[in-house]
Amino acid sequence: MICGRCDEPILPGQAYETRNIASPSGPGDTVYFHKPLCVKLPFQTTQGSIRH
Ligand SMILES: [Zn+2]
Repeated sequence: MICGRCDEPILPGQAYETRNIASPSGPGDTVYFHKPLCVKLPFQTTQGSIRH
């Protein structure tokens, strides 16, 4: 499964939590998050692009 916050895969054995996103037009969706809260990416970047 993929973490809905950082977009990284949640591996077997890793702690995670689920959240149900209710949808007015459907059955809703279950989203998974890393349990130790991960950092949400503002947008797609690669570490190699960060320069100081
Ligand atoms: Zn995550």
